[in-house]
Amino acid sequence: MHVPSLIEKKRDGHPLTTKEIKSLVEEFTVGEIPDYQMSALAMAVFFQGMSPTETYQLTDAMMHSGRVLKYPEGSPPKIDKHSTGGVGDKVSIVLAPLLACDEVWVPKISGRGLGITGGTLDKLESIPGFNVHLDEKRALKQLEKIGVFMIGQTEDICPADKKLYALRDVTGTVPSQPLLVASIMSKKLAENLDRLVLDVKFGSGAFMKTKEDAQKLAEAMKSVGDSMKVKTSYLLNPMDEPLGRAVGNALEIAECVEILQGGGPPDLIKLIVDLAEKVSETPRAQLEKCLKDGTAWKKFVSLVYAQDGDATLLEKLLEQHRATIIEPWKAKAAGKVKRIDAELIGRASVQLGAGRQRTTDPIDFAVGFSKIKKVGEKVDLDEPLFMIHARNERSIVNITPLLEKAIEIG
Ligand code: URA
Repeated sequence: MHVPSLIEKKRDGHPLTTKEIKSLVEEFTVGEIPDYQMSALAMAVFFQGMSPTETYQLTDAMMHSGRVLKYPEGSPPKIDKHSTGGVGDKVSIVLAPLLACDEVWVPKISGRGLGITGGTLDKLESIPGFNVHLDEKRALKQLEKIGVFMIGQTEDICPADKKLYALRDVTGTVPSQPLLVASIMSKKLAENLDRLVLDVKFGSGAFMKTKEDAQKLAEAMKSVGDSMKVKTSYLLNPMDEPLGRAVGNALEIAECVEILQGGGPPDLIKLIVDLAEKVSETPRAQLEKCLKDGTAWKKFVSLVYAQDGDATLLEKLLEQHRATIIEPWKAKAAGKVKRIDAELIGRASVQLGAGRQRTTDPIDFAVGFSKIKKVGEKVDLDEPLFMIHARNERSIVNITPLLEKAIEIG
């Protein structure tokens, strides 16, 4: 295969054949195509796009670059959700055990936070002992026992995506629709699901800034999923203000515990139940009951124990991870909250240490924001709009300009 010709072909707007796409992915995975050629190809795709057939073939090739999970004959339906990410998005941590309360399996493979988007794995690791690195044999045993696991991507699942994502991240080619679709869907399809629901975000704290772009991305992902015999549905959800009232790893787990114990913020509960209803066959009232009556909480506790976590600490997590400074950010006027900008709060939380700028950066589980007011709520002068959890005064000084821009009271 002559790679420069394929780059030129795509650059000039011609579709690649199935065989060409397959060879490109296979040879790139084993290191026979150098990064500079794959980067050039990614840029050609960024500008010229891909047809639905090419996008499907790329997803298929990336999914088959590694292992696809296998289940015993006659096992229950496998279901999952994927979110395109957001600030304060802790949905998976409640949704996975909630879904597993029914006769289904939830084989959840999640990612780490990068940029302003928090990662489920980082949040789970704030639970002392929680192990996100189960091998396939152990993960499968856990599914048989409790119907759910929550783990990270292993080396042999979609290795092509791992390599390509790292290149896209540094070559300005992340926001290309076919590349996004293939990256997200190849990993989800490697879970070998029966049903998948996609939570596609739009707004200031999302990849897609407009609802129209989110809809196009969602349709493209659904089309690939359905073509691969995975019943795929989606919801489009705004990401202009943080989801729930907490941002930060241990702070978000504490909010999940609240929901699993029957409380928690209504916006988050609604989203969790909306997504659960879309992907499961359980009636909405039953899902709500499982959240209220402790059934989902018990499932979560089993999940934490099954993955070596210390579930006795779940209700004391904020004592385990306590920031040195916890102080209010006060309203400078009385009125209604008009805007709490998700992107700026996300950036501030990364600067506090709750997220990472590079994949190798360490995470500070304790820092972030709690008790965040929601858009539309009334505030008095000097009333706290949220609490800042920080390691030192310097980090608060650093994020002050972001926080000043993030909030509008009308
Ligand atoms: N998440 C992914 O898995 N892939 C992307 O390309 C973007 C977000």
